[in-house]
Amino acid sequence: MDTAAFEKYARLIVKTGINIQPDQILVISSPIECAFFARMAAQAAYREGARDVVMNWNDELFSKLRYLHAPEAVFETFPQWQKDFYLFYMQQGAAFLTIDASDPEILKEVNPDLVAKAQRVRNSALQTFRESLMCNKNAWSVVSIPTASWASKVFPEISETAAVGKLWEAILKAVRVDTDDPVAAWEMHKAVLKERLDFLNSCKFQFLHFKNSLGTDLHVELPEGHVWLGGSEHTLSGVEFIANMPTEEVFTLPKKTGVNGTVTSSRPLSYNGNLVEKMSFEFENGKIIKFDAGKHTEIIKKLIETDAGASFLGEVALVPQKSPISESGIVFLNTLFDENASCHLALGKAYPVCVQGNEEMNKEALDFIGVNDSLVHVDFMIGSEDMEIIGTAANGKQTPVFLKGNFVL
Ligand code: ZN
Ligand code: ZN
Repeated sequence: MDTAAFEKYARLIVKTGINIQPDQILVISSPIECAFFARMAAQAAYREGARDVVMNWNDELFSKLRYLHAPEAVFETFPQWQKDFYLFYMQQGAAFLTIDASDPEILKEVNPDLVAKAQRVRNSALQTFRESLMCNKNAWSVVSIPTASWASKVFPEISETAAVGKLWEAILKAVRVDTDDPVAAWEMHKAVLKERLDFLNSCKFQFLHFKNSLGTDLHVELPEGHVWLGGSEHTLSGVEFIANMPTEEVFTLPKKTGVNGTVTSSRPLSYNGNLVEKMSFEFENGKIIKFDAGKHTEIIKKLIETDAGASFLGEVALVPQKSPISESGIVFLNTLFDENASCHLALGKAYPVCVQGNEEMNKEALDFIGVNDSLVHVDFMIGSEDMEIIGTAANGKQTPVFLKGNFVL
């Protein structure tokens, strides 16, 4: 165990990721397996002047037990006190840090109907909180560290201890903690992403056409006034933060009703404790009209039936093959990493911050310009070494954006 590197990582998360402010509260949601690291992050936060740190522990093995043994009715309600917990700290202006680490197949023996139901009830109860975070009302960040059950799925051929070591190494590299000065490395990285954002924002594309040999042939319309984002974001009160560490993507939103064609996933997706190896979707006027996910088709069916918006897209993100996570060659089986190794799309809710003037818009106004709304937001990976993306502006001018999986720029 390289305690010094872990502490360096915890400091980076608190300063550059969350950017904790003096006297602010930090809420840390963490698996119990990651407690030592959550404490390191807490210590770093206090050192940076946080007023308090609140721990919100979760336990995937207990969650599985509960799914296997508790009566179904238990999953039909969500406790008011948990809802109050998030809203209370949100109103206090807290920052929210999530340590996202789980066995990618933890719930494969559980009835998927039950998981889908619980997920829906939870998302619905926490809707105000989740929507406020997606509008950057408060600073938030999702990061990760290895757990034994996860690492053994990524590196099944070696011992558990070796797998955890190897996953740590890959994660520290992905978040640039392996450099002498990670804060400076992130400044440089943000500048690279900014160049891509400036290019895409200046092109004001109306359409993107994705094509590769996996079968993807997809036309994605972008709404007027869309904005490409990436690297860091700002809270409504102007505090800079990084929502995902690592992050390699630049992203915006598709026009809800403007997606047509077919798309095939290129990396497995761990969704609700199941590993969905491969998926394909066919879209017409934004809506999924046909899909297949092999033996997990039922699980994906449940997902897109969550509500009316779940069968439409809410995000389009570009990640070149020439990026550190992709070049590591590791399939992480965790979306935080895999989505940052690959171009991706998300089913469900769009980030309103991807539209100019969103602060002044109500739900109807957002809907009018094509901002999808849903209880879910599930990213899936579509990038490949032969991905080609052509942008078309409103005047018909075509510009190559991606050739052979990388930005043309
Ligand atoms: Zn994304
Ligand atoms: Zn996303």
